[in-house]
Amino acid sequence: MRYISTRGKAPVLSFEEAMLSGLARDGGLYVPETIPQMSAEDIRALHGLPYEDVAFRVMRPFIGNGFTDEVFADLIAKAYAGFGHGARAPLVQLAPGHFLLELFHGPTLAFKDFAMQLIGQLFEEALTRRGERVTIVGATSGDTGSAAIEAFKGLDAVDVFILYPHGRVSEVQRRQMTTPSESNVHALALDGHFDDCQARLKDMFNDFTFRDAVRLAGVNSINWARVLAQVVYYFSSAVSLGAPDRKVSFTVPTGNFGDIFAGYIAKRMGLPIDRLVVATNQNDILHRCLSSGDYATSEVHPSISPSMDIQVSSNFERALFDAYGRDGSAVGQLMDELKSGGFKVSQGALQALRDQYDSGRVSEEETLAMIAEANATMGELLCPHSAIGVKVAEDLRDPAVPMITLATAHPAKFPDAVEQASGIRPPLPPRMADLYDRPERVTQVANDLTALETLIRERIAK
Ligand SMILES: *Cc1c(COP(=O)(O)O)cnc(C)c1O
Repeated sequence: MRYISTRGKAPVLSFEEAMLSGLARDGGLYVPETIPQMSAEDIRALHGLPYEDVAFRVMRPFIGNGFTDEVFADLIAKAYAGFGHGARAPLVQLAPGHFLLELFHGPTLAFKDFAMQLIGQLFEEALTRRGERVTIVGATSGDTGSAAIEAFKGLDAVDVFILYPHGRVSEVQRRQMTTPSESNVHALALDGHFDDCQARLKDMFNDFTFRDAVRLAGVNSINWARVLAQVVYYFSSAVSLGAPDRKVSFTVPTGNFGDIFAGYIAKRMGLPIDRLVVATNQNDILHRCLSSGDYATSEVHPSISPSMDIQVSSNFERALFDAYGRDGSAVGQLMDELKSGGFKVSQGALQALRDQYDSGRVSEEETLAMIAEANATMGELLCPHSAIGVKVAEDLRDPAVPMITLATAHPAKFPDAVEQASGIRPPLPPRMADLYDRPERVTQVANDLTALETLIRERIAK
């Protein structure tokens, strides 16, 4: 299996190389050259299997020869052993025809653990085999950073630096990043928004001198291996509702477009998905783009669903690549226009996107109201991101097709908003109850590329 860049000008890589490098050298994102197919029979055979076995069968064709079957199965087993639920991704019913996929039973209580725990195992295995060391730098709106730190802390072959927007993550998110004591973990609080963190990260990847000197590796949602790990729970949940013999739809609380793009890959592999619904908060660039064709960035307005406070949605580039008939130079041109504020999607490409995705936007008031309503009438305490998904799903769903909404974080990760809406302050699961007592360790940094690069060089030299 070979991986190509969405901008068409970077070297073609293997799975392992694409995973270890993250962003392509032409600024694009890696995608598989072809999409492996699963027949109806292959999908039916997933019925009743443990999550780990589904994961193996769904991901194996994408991985290539770098990992043997035995090693790959073992890494999957280790990745999910620390989850607090035997099913890993349990499905609960909210209402007739509406189901919630709980993706928050991992070690940091958000769906990011599904990909990050696996990628930690894959990195360690690949780097140890190659006798190499890398510097992982990640930008986070809160959940990616904690999941990355949890997955990479204490590993010999990596240093992990996480940039988060100072003062704009929840206390639980911050503490999950600042309390691990392992010396290869570096939490950096940047003066700026998440988009600033993401922009400085891209700058570092485009500074090839720095990139090569520190052996920079990226584990943001642009890393293909992360998207791949997320394809698995679309299969496991759809199969438990009768796939491939019954269609299902999915609603996905979306920011960087990684999680919903994984659903699109599942559909392309042969999983019968009817609709893929994008749910955004008030930072609604994706909803506006799918509605009007205008992909125009505006200011970020901090919300009670901070993991979706995003105006430049990195993985959307992968969706555009397919919508433009895999024309890398067309995508490159759009991304150049984006630097000056935005672009207009062509009629043909917009139609192609609308054939795959529906969308809805949820205000702050509606989010709070949905948390209260779900608690009162569905018996489910939702985090604000998940509530946005449930609200859009309730508004748009076709009663004839089962809808699965992805619950992307545990309510205890956002206790203030949940309490404000429902009057209930959700407690942390017992395994992390002492989070508020552990000492914190963090470095505050300016929104400045040179200062950041200097700091990273100094830290890894030690
Ligand atoms: C990251 C995150 C999202 C958005 O996921 P994307 O892959 O960026 O679209 C939604 N909810 C929560 C809780 C998250 O951590």
